[in-house]
Amino acid sequence: MSVRILIFSDLDSTLLDHYTYSWDEAKPVISLLKGLNIPLIFNTSKTFYETRRIAAEMGINHPFAVENGAAVFFPKGFKPLPGGCRDYGDYCFVRFGRDYSELSNAFKRLAQRYPVKGIRDMGEDELLRITGLPRETLVDMKRRMFSEPFFLEDVEALEPLKREVEGMGFRVLKGGRFYHLVGREQGKGRVVFFLKSLLSSEGVPVMTVGLGDSENDVDMLRAVDQPILIPNPVKGYIAVDVPNLLRMRCMAPIGWAKGVMKVLRDWGIV
Ligand SMILES: [Mg+2]
Repeated sequence: MSVRILIFSDLDSTLLDHYTYSWDEAKPVISLLKGLNIPLIFNTSKTFYETRRIAAEMGINHPFAVENGAAVFFPKGFKPLPGGCRDYGDYCFVRFGRDYSELSNAFKRLAQRYPVKGIRDMGEDELLRITGLPRETLVDMKRRMFSEPFFLEDVEALEPLKREVEGMGFRVLKGGRFYHLVGREQGKGRVVFFLKSLLSSEGVPVMTVGLGDSENDVDMLRAVDQPILIPNPVKGYIAVDVPNLLRMRCMAPIGWAKGVMKVLRDWGIV
């Protein structure tokens, strides 16, 4: 292949069904990507533990980014590993986000004055009702390393909250179900630039695809050569103005599978 392709993908409501988290209809395309040696790089707001579980279920052993671009995890033995990669079990990671303790302290201060509720303060049943996740995965969802997801009980409070958060050196991102308090320097787009430069070997051009459904995916969609927007069953298409955007008609996971196939055909790969 004379061009190297990297596929960056959000998970919830992009590759995984919004309600059931199923990815059955995407299985043949995931197998095809494996056969073509095209890395499928998850770029999600999920935690390391949730993402590792999904990667294992799909049989995918590529780098992935967690908690809205807070860190990129590399399986040990991956080449080339970037400098400064911090050991973490069978992985090492490069961090762009802030430590959880900093975020958690900031969140506690905000929670005294704004109508926010962190997922740490939600009971198991409440979280199950909101997310529809299998009960056994909730523990992985709560093992945050770099971000604090929360519920906003009054949207009127969003703008003043955002301003205050920015003054504190953090940022609020909007995901599919939650808002996320994250570090100012992180984002899904930064992950694309970082991995693109790491994985481009001399003389071989790198082409990138990005798939997402929510506001926190927009900077990833902006960063790639072929952005693909998947409609969200609750929000529909988010308002986004990105050149060359491919809007799929089907939701996850069918829209994901069709979108990837269309790009592979357009680029003459299959
Ligand atoms: Mg999503």
